[in-house]
Amino acid sequence: MNGEKKILELTWKEVEALAKEKTVLLVTLAPIEEHGLHLPLGVDIVEGKKWEGDLVRRLVSKYPDYYFLVMPALPIAHGCIGQYPGNLHFSQRTVRTVVLESLQSFVGWGIRNIVLIASHGNPRFQIAVEEACQKINRKYGVCAFSPLGAFFSYKELKLDLKFPPGMAKKLEAYPDDFHAGWIETSMMLDIAEETVGDYLRQPDTAVKEKEMMFPKKVEKKIAGFGHIGLPRKAEKSLGKEINENMAEYLFEAVSSFLDRQGYEKFQHHFLYRIPFLRTFFLRVLAAALLGILALLTVIFLL
Ligand SMILES: [Zn+2]
Repeated sequence: MNGEKKILELTWKEVEALAKEKTVLLVTLAPIEEHGLHLPLGVDIVEGKKWEGDLVRRLVSKYPDYYFLVMPALPIAHGCIGQYPGNLHFSQRTVRTVVLESLQSFVGWGIRNIVLIASHGNPRFQIAVEEACQKINRKYGVCAFSPLGAFFSYKELKLDLKFPPGMAKKLEAYPDDFHAGWIETSMMLDIAEETVGDYLRQPDTAVKEKEMMFPKKVEKKIAGFGHIGLPRKAEKSLGKEINENMAEYLFEAVSSFLDRQGYEKFQHHFLYRIPFLRTFFLRVLAAALLGILALLTVIFLL
């Protein structure tokens, strides 16, 4: 009876009957988004589901008396690259609201172990998901966990991701590979080779890490293509290594969350603490300015 369960195949009675203290719910959140001329729009969802599946397999054998309740992927994210047909855009605030309301529902079912696989690197997206988790955790005690923001900031957080040798070497040689380049193309060759187009003929698009902060500049550099990096350097064997490495990272992070031991370091993107990247920054700023204005008016009138 134990192990993986797909929510779409259960009745409400079966959800009700699950031993809630031993139930873990997993949901992948990712955009439908252009990935160049050689990869399909669903890359981030396909990757997220692959990592989730590999993670669940590992968890089932480590926690044999737990249930792992798998949701369908939610195609909701913030921060698509450019204005391409096929991109499905949501504001950072919408993402926060949808995640928060989803978490509210899961908690309402009685579940206290919720794992979000937010398989899209945009920092504002990661922050919105983490804000929703934080809010739920404050209200109900720790029950929601989103470990990919920390993964995407491994350098700044000094997390040792134990990259396999092939990947470490390639990262050193071609570090600026942010979207549909050799990293994602390799992963897709491993997961669904039949969906990968002619990656060997795609030109390199050179965007430095610092330039990623300026979307207009990036759009100009990748116009007509859509990828950022070097798809022609992709390799299927490397993709297997990268996907395995991701599953291992998730396994370590989620195990620490289920054990409630040492999970804190995986909870936030390194930019989480920067106020202007937060969802309600403008609203809070406007309220603060209005407050100061009101105070000054009172002082002036006195
Ligand atoms: Zn992607």
